[in-house]
Amino acid sequence: METIIRIAVQKSGRLSEDSLALLKECGIKFYNGGGKLKSPSTNFPIEFLFLRDDDIPGYVADGVADIGIVGENELVEKNKEVKTLHKLGFSKCRLSLAIPKSQAYAGLEYFNGKNIATSYPRILGNYLSENNIQAEIHEISGSVEIAPSIGLAEGICDIVSSGSTLMMNGLKEVEKIFNSEAVLISNKDLTAEKQAIIEKLLFRINAVQTGKSNRYVLLNAPNESLEKITALIPGMKSPTILPLAEEGWSSVHSVIPEDQFWEVIEELKGAGAQGILVVPIEKMVI
Ligand code: ATP
Ligand code: MG
Repeated sequence: METIIRIAVQKSGRLSEDSLALLKECGIKFYNGGGKLKSPSTNFPIEFLFLRDDDIPGYVADGVADIGIVGENELVEKNKEVKTLHKLGFSKCRLSLAIPKSQAYAGLEYFNGKNIATSYPRILGNYLSENNIQAEIHEISGSVEIAPSIGLAEGICDIVSSGSTLMMNGLKEVEKIFNSEAVLISNKDLTAEKQAIIEKLLFRINAVQTGKSNRYVLLNAPNESLEKITALIPGMKSPTILPLAEEGWSSVHSVIPEDQFWEVIEELKGAGAQGILVVPIEKMVI
């Protein structure tokens, strides 16, 4: 029988859309409608399990799934024996301590002798003991941000991205304790056949991620500026230079990192480039 791998992804929530989008961009076709819990791909040896994110580290550790996509917050909190294969760059958030806005805050000692509500007792417990703070941890599974207003706790430790949920609940963020993003994890004991499939998947993920972090740039330049322009956009090996129909001009094609984009464009203009086009790259294999 043909070997296939199983991947655990979040059924619905803040991880699921980007997880599934990434796999689609890797050219993997699958059906995820109708509330199904399990679904095979039609063109890659992989089967999807749609689960709650809390359960993903455990399913991967137990080998029910071979790999999974989960937030580092859940991964560290669940503390299961799995391998982290790759950071995926989405679902970025942080775990923070927050207290009512009206309270004065002078430092971590604030929490000595206080009650803190959280869904992350392990991460919070480690953080408190590393910092020698004695506080009572109240584990609750959701709606942590209302704990102070109902008198359950004086502070909370919860996921923050923009901070708007905290604000709506009259809280302020006072300490960031953990940064998280989505990661690809795997079981620790996989057969060589399964590992080979995972290598293929990782190769595709890298090509998609590298493509996203670069742009293809095309421009026209007078031949006397070519040396300067080539130095600004060296590209993967070297830029492509093609003569334009107009005498003394060339078209230059290259690749630039997305995060240097605006500065490089300024410098290209300064060096005499005209008609600059910037195009997204779907996949890139270096
Ligand atoms: P489930 O029903 O699967 O248990 P959940 O309610 O526990 O879902 P979500 O709110 O969907 O979890 O969040 C899933 C993960 O997405 C979190 O564990 C975290 O890693 C990340 N995350 C949470 N909130 C945000 C946010 N505001 N921005 C970015 N990423 C976030
Ligand atoms: Mg969850």
